[in-house]
Amino acid sequence: MPKNVNHIGIAVKSIEETAEFYKKLGLEIESIEVVESQKVRVAFIPVGDVRIELLEPTSDQSTIAKFIEKKGEGIHHVALGTENLIDKLAEAEANGIRLIDKTPRSGAHNAQIAFLHPKSSHGVLLELCEEKKT
Ligand code: ZN
Repeated sequence: MPKNVNHIGIAVKSIEETAEFYKKLGLEIESIEVVESQKVRVAFIPVGDVRIELLEPTSDQSTIAKFIEKKGEGIHHVALGTENLIDKLAEAEANGIRLIDKTPRSGAHNAQIAFLHPKSSHGVLLELCEEKKT
C-alpha cells in the first residue's frame, strides 16, 4: 500500500514566475534540478510532509510542453510514495492496471518513479515514487 502523497506535480511555463505566487503564501522553493531524460526543470516546494513539484519544460518536445499546449498550466499528476516500487508495479499490472512505465525510471530528487495510465486511474495521472534513502 502506498504510504503517503509524496508530491503533486504542476505543469508551469516558468518556475521563477510561479515561485513569486507561492512566495506570497509564505512558501519557498527548496531545490531546482534539471531532469534531462524528461526535458524538464523541476522545483520542489515543501508544504508540511507533501511537496509541490513545479515542472517547467526545457524543450518543445517535452511531454510537459505538450500538456501546457493542450490544457494550459495546471495539475499534471499526483505522486504516491511507495516502497519496493518494482514489486508494486508488478502487483498493479497483475491487478489489471495499465502502466505507462513497466519499469521504474529516474526522476528528480534521486527517486525512482513510474506512471500509471490515466485510462486506468479514472482520469488522474498517478505516479508511484520510491525515494532512495540518503
Ligand atoms: Zn512527480
